[in-house]
Amino acid sequence: MHNVVIVGGGPAGLSAALTAAVAGAPVLLLDSNPRLGGQYWRTPADNFGDQNENHFDLATGLKLINSVKAQSNIQVLSGAQIWSASHKDGVSTLRVIYQGSEKIINTGNLILATGAYDRSLPFPGWDIPGVMTPGGVQSLIKGHGVVAGKRVVVAGSGPFLLPVAAGLVKSGADVVELLEANKSWRWASSILVLLENLSKIKEGFYYIEAISKGKVRARFGQAVVGAYAGENGELESVDIAKIDRNFKIKKVRNIKCDVAAIGWGFTADTSLAGALGCKQVVAKDESVVVLIDSKQQTSITGVFAAGEITGIGGSELSMIEGEIAGKSAAKFVGCAVDISRSDLIIRAKKQRFAAALIKAYPIKSGWRSWLDEQTVLCRCEEVDLADLKDSIVELGATDSRTAKLLTRCGMGLCQGRICGRFVVDLVADQLNISPTDIDRIAAVSRPIITPIPLGVLAAGE
Ligand SMILES: Cc1cc2nc3c(=O)[nH]c(=O)nc-3n(C[C@H](O)[C@H](O)[C@H](O)COP(=O)(O)OP(=O)(O)OC[C@H]3O[C@@H](n4cnc5c(N)ncnc54)[C@H](O)[C@@H]3O)c2cc1C
Repeated sequence: MHNVVIVGGGPAGLSAALTAAVAGAPVLLLDSNPRLGGQYWRTPADNFGDQNENHFDLATGLKLINSVKAQSNIQVLSGAQIWSASHKDGVSTLRVIYQGSEKIINTGNLILATGAYDRSLPFPGWDIPGVMTPGGVQSLIKGHGVVAGKRVVVAGSGPFLLPVAAGLVKSGADVVELLEANKSWRWASSILVLLENLSKIKEGFYYIEAISKGKVRARFGQAVVGAYAGENGELESVDIAKIDRNFKIKKVRNIKCDVAAIGWGFTADTSLAGALGCKQVVAKDESVVVLIDSKQQTSITGVFAAGEITGIGGSELSMIEGEIAGKSAAKFVGCAVDISRSDLIIRAKKQRFAAALIKAYPIKSGWRSWLDEQTVLCRCEEVDLADLKDSIVELGATDSRTAKLLTRCGMGLCQGRICGRFVVDLVADQLNISPTDIDRIAAVSRPIITPIPLGVLAAGE
């Protein structure tokens, strides 16, 4: 019997596991990755040698990972993917694929720390091989020592573009363009928040120094708005546009590259929380996040959430949320531990930084004008913009759910993880309405969290 079950071995899950275990609660920590660390502290197999060069402050991550491994009352199951879950009468049931077969874990005390994934926006040619997410490009470097291309354009919006460009430069790639869609002055109104989060300034300078060694110049107010394949079907060039403050195109130039890493921040991965029935809400940046109280408890008693599943805010916010969730969960099973005043102060400081991020990197609606009728929206089911419009104009869909049912947009292998969020906006545009919170939450809700082979399902517990 494990008193506290934690899903996610990133900064939030690791911090939660260590805190709960130190407080006296036995912990079971599950993560789908083969190694602990989550997205931020992703590392390759041990035989790749010292990885400090590929990370800012890997030492903090390794210390936490080693402390978790050394704690005798924490059991770690790496490579354990929760594919489905439900909650009834105070018991959460997790259906886990582990070592090729299905296991069922029941628990009355669960911490969800499932993190986030890259947010993509469609544009003509975004489905050409070579157009990738920055997270994908970085995962190849950090997790496998593989550099995705030789001439790379890094573009989109958000501070994550910096570590990706820095990682590429350090790995020997030529970063031919680094494009931030927003203007740098957007941070001006958050100077005080930056000053109280000096570690973030230090981290920023670390990346800028690495990037400048590659002679890369960052350009602001520019974005990739089109991509073209060469004769081999792979990416050959991209259109780069100067854009106005609403992201509408002003002037376009074309540049040769073999990889374009394009991302627009992150989307919280609330699939597991949604399957359990935890209440989700729409945050200020219009993303869907899990609702928590001051103790990190979700709307379900005994189910806690920490890290980017509750909103995008970086690894430091994830860690302090994890510590608070670990204490709350340990207390829930009877351990004598309390959330301290300093925990709350640190979390509030990091939350202010998260709010400043949203202010500095807004995603403006003008991106929708980059699309043409043939732009693919759902890559799994090959649905383009014209199909989506037909479902509204010809077939009478009046909401994104009906448009989805009529086109199969978001019903493929990824279950709308990539297109779900932007299809809601595109449907609302066509109908000349604003999306409701119900539309946005429905777009990220999926009963099956990850595909499962039928054989594994049939042979399962
Ligand atoms: C691709 C990517 C790269 C990033 N790189 C950086 C970076 O270089 N610098 C930076 O400051 N920030 C980076 N971030 C942001 C970063 O994710 C956060 O700051 C921090 O890692 C969030 O911590 P977390 O614990 O909330 O989630 P994560 O670190 O995302 O950890 C969540 C863990 O949960 C596991 N998980 C999710 N669902 C399931 C499931 N159903 N079953 C089993 N396990 C599951 C995942 O495998 C993952 O290991 C990155 C984000 C992404 C998406």
